[in-house]
Amino acid sequence: MFNRHDLAEMELGELEQALESMGHPRFHARQLYQWVHKRGVTEFAGMTDLGRDLRQGLAEAFTIGTPEVVRRDTSTDGTSKFLMRLEDGQLIESVFIPDTPSNTFCLSTQVGCAMKCGFCLTGRMGIIRNLTAGEIAGQVRVLARALDMLQSRFNIVLMGMGEPLHNYDAVMKALRTLGDEHGLAVGPRRVTLSTVGVLPNLERLATEPLMPNLAISLHATTEEQRDLLVPINRRYGLQELLDACRRFPVKRRERITFEYVMLAGVNDTDEDARRLVRLLHGIKAKVNLLPLNEAAGILYERPSAARVNRFAQIVAERGLVVSVRKSRGRDIRAACGQPITESAREKSAAQRPAVLLR
Ligand code: SAH
Repeated sequence: MFNRHDLAEMELGELEQALESMGHPRFHARQLYQWVHKRGVTEFAGMTDLGRDLRQGLAEAFTIGTPEVVRRDTSTDGTSKFLMRLEDGQLIESVFIPDTPSNTFCLSTQVGCAMKCGFCLTGRMGIIRNLTAGEIAGQVRVLARALDMLQSRFNIVLMGMGEPLHNYDAVMKALRTLGDEHGLAVGPRRVTLSTVGVLPNLERLATEPLMPNLAISLHATTEEQRDLLVPINRRYGLQELLDACRRFPVKRRERITFEYVMLAGVNDTDEDARRLVRLLHGIKAKVNLLPLNEAAGILYERPSAARVNRFAQIVAERGLVVSVRKSRGRDIRAACGQPITESAREKSAAQRPAVLLR
């Protein structure tokens, strides 16, 4: 028996070619694509405008790989966290955040993450594997169906587990699938890609025809500080990153978001705030402050609300747009930097002494 192809991994053009090579008319590809991507159907039997023989032929040739929801937690603030199992048994998390002001789906791009930022729980897992394009886009189909939102407007943020620019090709393919007018048609302006700044791929992103909004996880204002907090800085330094941001083609009336996790006594002083403003000079920037979400095994502390406000005030007084991210879903561990699967959670507790010694 030959292996069936996973239809969820195909862009529309690839599906057209595959059907043609099987001797079927190309136009069925659009119908199929709509069933899978727009209506979230996961079985060929449900595709009622396709003939019975065709459905049977398709079921023999293709699978429709779909992440399976194994658990759903809902926060008191309406945020829902979905634990999903992939074909090979690996687990990822996706989060639905209502009204921020739009409805937002937060997607994972990898199982675990290789970046090892000092305050991030996902980083503790290390990298297990990349997600495929079908697995990235599939999270949206599954969420939209489970939440009865296939017809609704929503935004997408690539801010779950993983570093999107460390899985470039799959991420871009997923964005093309999500943006296709025959699928969910989520255009690039409604997608935000958040990255620590894997520079070669940031440069590639700058040349993409369909470009998502960009968020940079900056988190520090000196090379030394960022080397410690965001280890990839040792390879692609702060200044280089900001130079790349300066060159990045930002559309009129748009800005790059700079995320800045606030760690008490580490990067939250008035001097840090002033340095941040100086660093961002000449970049169309806005700043999003993320007061640390504390968790067992993370050695940093969240600054007081007064400290966060003072920092924000200094940045704002110097003319930069600044916002403070309200943590959503903290009670279900769905907040920034918290997506981590339970088995990994136990492991990370065991690894804590090693981290302390570093
Ligand atoms: N790897 C990408 C995508 C993850 S986005 C990136 O780093 O940009 C998740 C955001 O939450 C990042 O800005 C990350 O630095 C931040 N974050 C991680 N751990 C956090 C924590 N404990 N509290 C608050 N924000 C955190």
